[in-house]
Amino acid sequence: MQSAGRQSAIYWALLAASFTLALAGSWTIGTQIDNDTYDWMFRLYEPPPWQPESVLLVADERSLDAYGGVAHLRQPLARALEILSSAPPKAVALDVILVDQMDETTDARLEAALRATRNLVLACRLLPDGLAWEDPLPRFRARAAALGHAHAEPEERDASRSLPLEKVAGHDRRWALSLEAYRLSRGAQILESPDDLEVGPRRIPASRARGRLMRIRYVPPYVKIQRISLKELIDDPGLAARFTGKVVFAGVTDQTAVHDRLSTPYSEGKPMVGVEIHANAYETIAQGLFLTRAPLWLELLFSLTLAATVGLAYARFTAIQANLLALGILAAAHVTPYVLFTQRVVFSFFTPVSSAWLSLVTAGGYQYLVVRRRLHKSEAERDRYRQTIHFVTHEMRTPLTAIQGSSELMGRYALPEEKRKQIAELINSESKRLGRMIEMFLNMERLSAGQMELKRESFGASELMAGCVHRALPLAERKQIRILTEAAAPNLLLSGDRELMEYAFYNLLTNAIKYSPQRTEVTLSAARDNGHIRIAVQDQGIGMDQKEVKQIFQKFYRTRRAEQSGEAGTGIGLSIVEQIVIQHGGTIEVASRPGQGSRFTMVLPAPMPVAVMDQH
Ligand code: ADP
Repeated sequence: MQSAGRQSAIYWALLAASFTLALAGSWTIGTQIDNDTYDWMFRLYEPPPWQPESVLLVADERSLDAYGGVAHLRQPLARALEILSSAPPKAVALDVILVDQMDETTDARLEAALRATRNLVLACRLLPDGLAWEDPLPRFRARAAALGHAHAEPEERDASRSLPLEKVAGHDRRWALSLEAYRLSRGAQILESPDDLEVGPRRIPASRARGRLMRIRYVPPYVKIQRISLKELIDDPGLAARFTGKVVFAGVTDQTAVHDRLSTPYSEGKPMVGVEIHANAYETIAQGLFLTRAPLWLELLFSLTLAATVGLAYARFTAIQANLLALGILAAAHVTPYVLFTQRVVFSFFTPVSSAWLSLVTAGGYQYLVVRRRLHKSEAERDRYRQTIHFVTHEMRTPLTAIQGSSELMGRYALPEEKRKQIAELINSESKRLGRMIEMFLNMERLSAGQMELKRESFGASELMAGCVHRALPLAERKQIRILTEAAAPNLLLSGDRELMEYAFYNLLTNAIKYSPQRTEVTLSAARDNGHIRIAVQDQGIGMDQKEVKQIFQKFYRTRRAEQSGEAGTGIGLSIVEQIVIQHGGTIEVASRPGQGSRFTMVLPAPMPVAVMDQH
């Protein structure tokens, strides 16, 4: 039971370690993988199409070529706005730098065009030091209904997935261009709470704690935002009708002229310019397609549940059931983030998937090894058991035959008194031998089942040893083996079941004699050491290698050398000895080398020394 408990503790500790590893991974490589999966899910999932509310008015390469580059953009821009004012759009967001003064005629014309534009948002940017805003010239600014920041830089290095809806320089806070455009288009106010922003009918989940970041639900490729260039509009003012009732995002898209080009989940290597990102952010707000991140605790709980279920499956169910369940859990780990994504909840992919995989490998691997080892062990045990039954039946037959034969003799013939007595003695000693064998088997079973009650007696170690030596002497003499007792510390008291301890020591002593060649020595010692009493039996016999030493306490195990020695044995003795010592709170140490002898030491807890107590 105890070892099963320890095994299961190791099992769960390994699982806990694998879960921790998965978590450690999610803080490191996990973010990158989560981002990649996020982009991939973006491309995989196709939301129902919608009619975009925004239109792009772009200064593309051809427009810039036609009008003389970015430096001469104000004239055509003014012209385009004049054309648009007849459309008219719901709002216009200008992502164009209007910081410097140009020639008066151009600026005056642009100013007039701006004045004629309804719900105008002008872009502003933070100065490079981030401490102040770089605003449009006051004359332009005065014509705008709002200023909106035009920062689309992502919070991560690689791609633009979220947009900060607010940016602050000192005490001067600006909302994002897209948010201002939405507010003006709806004629609403922006109401703030710690968790979200409320604008007209929309509640935007963007918490203050996370810098009012909003994930952009990029418009899928099959829902194109209309794009009309300055040149197209100026050449064909009739196109103005396309802007009626829409929200216009105007800016430079010429790849060579703009710096804020960023990759998006859809871009696959083809970056998107800032003004387009703002239009996409606008669509996200206008359609209310907000993607929210699931709370961290939920991801952890989900991953932990997956790992624990895998662990339980392998601990409780059969291999096939566990494998099937684990397969289901793996599927759940992979699919859940996607299913949630379709519900616009962003859920980590790496954490649950790595937790499920790691726990599967750990639990499956562990159970596989344990089961294999158990199978191995029980097969070996069965083998040895069979051999032993053979041996035992053979051993038992000898005394039985003797008893049967002798009793028959006694029954049939009138024997002289002397002979009768001899035969009766033989019957008696043989039946005792049988009894001892049976007793030994029973003892072993009862001891290992924990059913044997231990007596609590106090007795001297040297007495115990001397008694055993006396009994073993005939065996030793037959092989001319000398039994030496090293000066045992006097009055070394042991506490426990004397009979069982004697059994244990006698077993070690007879083993030493059995497994030693003739004319060698067996040395016994007993000593106190650090709160323990060490009783050792040292021989000069056949010895064992380390692999054998590890197995000799298993029931029925015998080394090849022991088998070849011709000494009879069952391989049970030591397993009983070990049980006895363990029940007494002690351990057994074995030092042995093939051909160089062995040393078996029982290390038992020392009882309180009576002599010392008496002195106080
Ligand atoms: P048995 O002696 O009946 O075979 P034990 O359980 O007492 O059974 O011992 C198990 C095995 O351990 C022995 O068969 C033998 O291989 C090995 N062994 C025990 N004691 C010694 C020893 N003193 N020297 C060498 N081998 C030993």
